[in-house]
Amino acid sequence: MSMVATPAFAVCLLPPHRGGQDPFRASEVPARSQLYSLAPYEIETIWRESLTGYINRLGWTHHVSPRAFAAEMILPQVMRDLGEPLPTAARFGANLAMSLNGTGSLASAGGALLNYLTRRTDLQLLTLPWWVGDLPSLRQLRATPAWCPVCLAQWRKQGRPLYQPLLWMFHIVTLCPRHRSPLLERCPCCQKRQMILATNNTQPGTCTSCGTFLGEDARSCSGEPGHEPQMAWQEWVIAVLEELLTASQASSPLQWAPFFKHLATYLKEHQAYSKLARVTGITRQALHRWVKSDDPYVPTFQTLLKFCYVCQVTPVQVMRNQLDHLHQARALRRGNDSALPARPVRRVVDRERSQALLQAVLEGREEPLGISQVAQRLGYDEHSLLQHFPHECAEITRRAKAYRKQRKEQRFALIGEQVRQATFAVHASGHYPSQHAIQSLLLPGVMRIPESKATWHAALQELGLESR
Ligand SMILES: [Zn+2]
Ligand SMILES: [Zn+2]
Repeated sequence: MSMVATPAFAVCLLPPHRGGQDPFRASEVPARSQLYSLAPYEIETIWRESLTGYINRLGWTHHVSPRAFAAEMILPQVMRDLGEPLPTAARFGANLAMSLNGTGSLASAGGALLNYLTRRTDLQLLTLPWWVGDLPSLRQLRATPAWCPVCLAQWRKQGRPLYQPLLWMFHIVTLCPRHRSPLLERCPCCQKRQMILATNNTQPGTCTSCGTFLGEDARSCSGEPGHEPQMAWQEWVIAVLEELLTASQASSPLQWAPFFKHLATYLKEHQAYSKLARVTGITRQALHRWVKSDDPYVPTFQTLLKFCYVCQVTPVQVMRNQLDHLHQARALRRGNDSALPARPVRRVVDRERSQALLQAVLEGREEPLGISQVAQRLGYDEHSLLQHFPHECAEITRRAKAYRKQRKEQRFALIGEQVRQATFAVHASGHYPSQHAIQSLLLPGVMRIPESKATWHAALQELGLESR
């Protein structure tokens, strides 16, 4: 098998596993390709692979750390082309790499380079523009990858590839459309978020920090009954994503200009600004900005989807000027967008997972969270957590109080020092250090704090300007 590789990877680029349970059945390597020409998974469906998932898979297939692979083969050239400074591999792999899945220049440059390296022509499809169109990627993607534990467990059981669908990267997708289980963002074992690009020794489907398998069977993930609004919203989101994908496959990348054009016409012809503002909770001013012909303000994908959900239309219907349903929205009452569900609350408490996080907080391995923050992170309500772990919760509450007190004292000490220095500075400049004079050197409102006044008086006494 002949292969051209950059020198640093020449020793690492071994043939991929073949046969057995190996999920990565690599395609044949074209003669001039630098890398295996792996076919992306599920390219035709909403389960299509993400570009960062593909990079992870390329790394694993070549037996190199995906992060190191990206740092050597992708980053230098892409950053040079974009004229941007080169980030460290660690920072890129943990934070910045998610943009490779997005709508910006990093994604288009990264996709193009990977197409070149693998001699493929379809890797740009693993990014957002070829799905949801030309909206800005602001908040469309999560900060770090999420996953459905039931999907992972099933795939492993069935000997299917464990990969990272782009669907799981959408901020707006919170439930798995197949299993209705919440997507997870933190490892149930170590509570860490996942690296976007994996490092050495990480296997597909395992935690990038502690190596635990991230799959769980459906029984241990159950316990989400009674969230019908959340289910309805998520089912609608998935249906919309499917519709956008179909439309996008017909004319890629999808353009949103017709959406705003048709909406503008509708709003004007039906004098519907106030009515739709009332129904959707989006202000009239904002709606005007959306449809301004010159320099419009483009809302986020989430906002657009929530607007469409309340108005009972899909984005593709608006793009095609099929606005009949929009009339029905008038019948809806103000505040109906409150029907948009909050995050799902898991009713069945996973004791092991909860214990791990509580312990991590108590041992200082986690930031000093309060009980409500711990509950929120686990996806439970505070009450269930208090019921199951009364002692741990009491201790965490005690420590959180002490921590807050300490922070407050530190803040006051810092402010006190600033007040003292400001008093001396004004005095040194030959002026009387009045409250007004020193306030001009400090953050607004500082001199309204009683502790600041006490420090000021003490400084005046020190300077002999006030009797003790
Ligand atoms: Zn699933
Ligand atoms: Zn872990």
